[in-house]
Parts: sequence; structure tokens; C-alpha cells
Amino acid sequence: MRNILCNIINPISAESYEYLPQHIISIDNGIITRICPFVDGDILDYEDYRDAVALPGFIDLHVHLSQYRIRGMYEPALIPWLNKYVFPEEAHSIDVDYATDLAKRFFNALSRVGTTTSIIYTSPYETACDTAFEIAQSMGIRAMIGMTMMDMNSPIDLEQTTADSLKTSIKLYEKWHGKSPLLDYIFAPRFAPTCSMPLMQEISAFALKHNAWIQTHLSENPDELQWVKELFGMESYTEVYEKAGLVTPHTIFGHSIHLSDRELGILKANEAKIAHCPDSNFFLKSGEYPLQRIQNKAIAFGLGSDVGAGTTLNMLHHAKMMNYRQSEFSVLPASALYHITLGSAKLLGMDERIGSLQAGKEADIVFLKPPEDYPLNEQSLSQMLFFGDEYTVQETIVAGNKVYSL
Ligand SMILES: [Zn+2]
Repeated sequence: MRNILCNIINPISAESYEYLPQHIISIDNGIITRICPFVDGDILDYEDYRDAVALPGFIDLHVHLSQYRIRGMYEPALIPWLNKYVFPEEAHSIDVDYATDLAKRFFNALSRVGTTTSIIYTSPYETACDTAFEIAQSMGIRAMIGMTMMDMNSPIDLEQTTADSLKTSIKLYEKWHGKSPLLDYIFAPRFAPTCSMPLMQEISAFALKHNAWIQTHLSENPDELQWVKELFGMESYTEVYEKAGLVTPHTIFGHSIHLSDRELGILKANEAKIAHCPDSNFFLKSGEYPLQRIQNKAIAFGLGSDVGAGTTLNMLHHAKMMNYRQSEFSVLPASALYHITLGSAKLLGMDERIGSLQAGKEADIVFLKPPEDYPLNEQSLSQMLFFGDEYTVQETIVAGNKVYSL
């Protein structure tokens, strides 16, 4: 049982948030049991975090564990960048010791920046993915993790046969689905250029039958689009996934930049979700996310770091980029916060459990301290979103367990 005296910034919707000064958050057995204004003398046994602000832990909807170490390695387009940096680095994870060390560092780094839920791709090796689960479990991390699947057009050391890729993914799903309250498996075909139609169709059949989650990349870069059209002979990228049966309410499409109205219609009709990765999109000069069109269509989306093409795991940075990577459209602080917390929890069907600070929800919380001389008040959210890297993470907790403290 903990009682923590702090200030609170809480998302309410994409349009609004609340600031609650000097409140007590009570946590028992991993659950927030009470949030109430602090009255001196009422509660004697409390921890004093009055100089910090509590927010719901951040949610990263799209991140590659296997690319953590190649952040910032520059190549100005997606396909050359994959070939030059990503594929050689992912191949290192065939070594279990390497994959183990990488996973430990990665999960520590996520906790250090206040991320409490992440949707992860690992290297295309069973052991690398299994190791990531083992370490996440031992560290109390909340995540969905999937082994990247590739059965064509890939370097020989990363490519699996269609049957092996599927068999291994299903084995990992069966091992980890429902085994831990904080972890789940997510099928992770990398993207259409490296996945055959039969592979994608088999994933779809299994996932639909079991209500399993799927993640992949969609329409990131103009060269990639062209390649997909040539490979599959179809009108659009989204229709390739539609034909494969991968456009489902449990699919998270990374990027989704260059989409026609017809493609947006397919995503909407199938209640598919999008992980918007603005930092990555400008690192690789992939293009500008059609934020207004996607909001007008009311397609559910949240933010992803897309490390390694994203340069940092810090979701406050990506919330800033959500604004900065729109040339004309303003993103207000409430909206940016929503898309790294409650909005993403809702998209994942987890908003009853996480995404905001509320009695009855699980205690996923990040405590942040502002830089010296900056008071905490109603304006703190705006400041935090524009120079969040100057805010210090004091503590991160997942389901009531401390996963990081200063
Ligand atoms: Zn990605």
C-alpha cells in the first residue's frame, strides 16, 4: 500500500485534460484505489512527491527492440536504410547472449523515459523473441511482443520459409498468450515486400480464429509503395493487406502515410488501427502523415516511436513531433497527450485498465519533475510537450511495481 502526494495531469479526451494540484494517489496491490485532494492531517502516512507531476505511463504503439542500437544511423530513405543498417543489426540477435543483453537494455531504457506499455517487433528468430518475453516478464514490463516475419526478398540469414515463420510465430503465441497479465503476443509480418501472400493469409486465418493481434507497416515510403504494386500487381498497398485478410480490428498499421480515400475507407470499414510515427517519418523523409484526413475519417490511431528510425524512446518527444510534423495543422497539447496515453489504451481495448489515472485502474504511472525554476500548474502539460527532454523522470511504475526510479 502506498499513498503518494503529488500533482496530476490526466487525459480526459483528445480535446481535454485535467490538472489536479496536490492530490493523494493511493495504490494497493497494483491498483489505484483512491485519488483525492490532499488535506493536511487526513492521511499521515504518505510519500511526498509534491515537486513532481504524475501522468499515466506512456504507451508506445510501434517500436523495434531489435533496432535499439542503430538509432540515429542515417540513410535518407527506407529501403537503403533497411539494407545498410537494420538487417545486419537484426542478424546479431541470432546470438542469444546478444539478444538477452539487448532486451535488458531496451526495457530499462523504456522504463527510464516513462513508457509503461509498448508494442514491439523483435528480430526474426524464435530465441530472440522468447528471450524478450522472458526478460519483460522478469522485469515487470507491460508489452505486446512479436517476432518479425519475413519469407521473401530478405537477407538469407533473416529469411524463414513460409511454414517455419508461421509455425514459430504460433508456437510463441501459444507459449505467451494468456500466460501473464502484462504480456501478450502480437503477430508481426514486417511488411508486404518481405511477406508472401500465403504467409499473410495464414497469419490472418489464425489471428481471426483466435482474436489475436497483428502489426505490420503500411504505406511508409514512395519507393516501397511502388515495389508493393509491382510485387502483388494490385491497385494499392492497403488492398494487398485486404486481400490477405490482414485488415482487422486487431491490426495496428505502422505509418499509413500515402493513402487514397479508398484505402482510408478500407481501414475504417474494418476498424483497423494506425501507429503514427512522426519522428521516423521525417528521419527517413517518408512523408507527412495525413492527420486531418485520418481524424475526419475517425480512424483510431496513437503514436509510436518507431525506434530505430525514430531517434528516441521518449514519447514526449514524439508527442511534440506529432505537432511539428504537420506543416499547417496545429496539434493541441491535450490531443498530443491523449495519443500517447488514453487514446492508445482505448485503441488496444485496454482503457478500462490503463491510459489514465483513475481509481480502479491499474497503477501505470510516470512521475516527472520540471526543470528548476519552472512551477507546476495548468500550463505544465504544454511546456512538458515542447521541452519534455528537460523534465526528469523520477519514477516509473507498472501495475504498482517500480520499474525505474532516479
Ligand atoms: Zn517500424
